Amino acid sequence: MLSTLSHIFKNECPNCNKGKVFADKSFFFSIGFPKMNTHCSHCNYKFEKEPGYFFGAMFVNYAITVGQALITFFICSLFFDKIFDFRILLIIGFVILTLSFFNIRLSRMIWIYAFKNYTN
Ligand SMILES: [Zn+2]
Repeated sequence: MLSTLSHIFKNECPNCNKGKVFADKSFFFSIGFPKMNTHCSHCNYKFEKEPGYFFGAMFVNYAITVGQALITFFICSLFFDKIFDFRILLIIGFVILTLSFFNIRLSRMIWIYAFKNYTN
């Protein structure tokens, strides 16, 4: 489990753990939609198994975003007197926008690893 998480964060191929899934060098901080390799450079594993394969990653992305918003809310509520302070919403919006590029990559990586072929 821990090694799987490590492979996900290192942007490594689910099949051989050597090739890279995303073409961009920085997995965490790059602006814009991430460029994906179609196949693994090492084992030729096909990442997008069918058209629209990553549609489901959108739901993973949603779950991650909601989690981050909740965590941000609980951290912020420690620093404000009122529970529903308008400034907390602004902070949550800022955090979500900042992390959105990272979340796209993370959700796709989780999706690839969730549906990789575990039989071999
Ligand atoms: Zn590979």
